[in-house]
Amino acid sequence: MFTIDAHLDLSMNAMEWNRDLRLPIATINGWEAGLKDKPDRGNAVVSFPELRKGDIGLVVATQIARYVAADNPLPGWHSPEQAWAQTQGQLAWYKTMEAAGELVQVKDLDGLEKHLKLWQEDKTNEQKPIGYILSLEGADSLVDVSYLELAYEKGLRAVGPAHYGPGRYAQGTNATGKMGPQGYALLAEMERLNIILDATHLSDESFWDAMDHFSGAVWASHNNCRALVDHNRQFTDAQIRELISRGAVIGAALDAWMMVPGWERGRSTPKSTNCNLEVMIDHIDHICQLAGNTDHVGIGSDLDGGFGKEQCPYDLETIADLGKVPELFASRGYSKTDIEKLMHGNWLRFLRKAWS
Ligand SMILES: [Zn+2]
Repeated sequence: MFTIDAHLDLSMNAMEWNRDLRLPIATINGWEAGLKDKPDRGNAVVSFPELRKGDIGLVVATQIARYVAADNPLPGWHSPEQAWAQTQGQLAWYKTMEAAGELVQVKDLDGLEKHLKLWQEDKTNEQKPIGYILSLEGADSLVDVSYLELAYEKGLRAVGPAHYGPGRYAQGTNATGKMGPQGYALLAEMERLNIILDATHLSDESFWDAMDHFSGAVWASHNNCRALVDHNRQFTDAQIRELISRGAVIGAALDAWMMVPGWERGRSTPKSTNCNLEVMIDHIDHICQLAGNTDHVGIGSDLDGGFGKEQCPYDLETIADLGKVPELFASRGYSKTDIEKLMHGNWLRFLRKAWS
C-alpha cells in the first residue's frame, strides 16, 4: 500500500554517516562492519531501494544542524552560521539526488498531485523518484528570522523550532522554558510564508507557547504518547487533544525507547523489551481513542535517525517492512478505509488543506 513516512533524516545519513542511500542496504551495512564511531554502525534500515520495495513513495526529509553555546554538552556547531552551512550541504545532497533521478522535491499542490499520479499509475517503473518534502528539525541554523524566506525559496515547507536541549528559537526535549521573542518572530514568519509548524520536540512550555502564538497548519512528524512511555519527549493526552482540535496529524516513531517503557540505551534489546510493530499500533490506537476517529495518525518512523536495527522493532528488518503494518491494523479490527488513512490518507488530506 502506498505509504508516507513523515520523518526521515536522509541527508544526515548521507553526509554524516557517509551512507550512499542508492546502494542496497546490505552493501551499506557491509561497508560499516567494524566501524565504531556511531552506535548504529552496520545496522542501517533505510535506503532508496528499500523505500521503493515498501511502496514508500513520499517522505518528509530533514535538514538538521544544532547550535551549541559553550556550556551546552550536546554535539553541535559553535555558531549559527556554521549550522546554516551544514544544512546547505545537506540540501546540496538532496539536489544532487534529484539530478540523479532518485528524489523529487514536492513543495506545492500541483507537484503533490503529479507525484501521486506517478506512483499510483506507473507500476512497471521500479526506479520511480521518491518524493520528499523538505523540513527543518530544530531552527537553530536559521542565522536570523530573515533566513527563513531564503530557506522557503529552496523548498522548505515545515519547521520544528526545537530539537534536543536548549534552542535559539524554542526549548526542546529535556530542556524547559517558553519560546521567547525570537521564537514568536519565527512563528509569525512561518505563518506569513505558510510553513507547517512541527510540534515535535518542543518542551512542554514551548509547546503551549507555540499553540498560543501560531494559527497556521500544525503537525507532529514523529511523536509518541506519554501515557504509554513516560518521558517529556512524548505528548501528554492534553497535548494530543490540542493537536487534534487543530486538525493535526501525528506520526508514530519507531525508536524503541519511545515505544516501550524502561528502555536502557545500549543494554535493552528489541527482543528483551518485546518491542515490535504491534507496539507502534498501541501508540497510534491511543491517539485514535482520544480523537474518537482515525483522522489524526500516520507514520513518522525516524528510522536511521541516530539509531538502527539495534533500537527499533524486532520484526522490522528494513524500512520496507512498513508494508506489514496494514495487515497488523486489519487484525486489530481497523477497516480498509481507516488503514488507508493511517498509511497515507491523513498526511495527504493535511497537505492538500495546508497548501490549497
Ligand atoms: Zn527527532
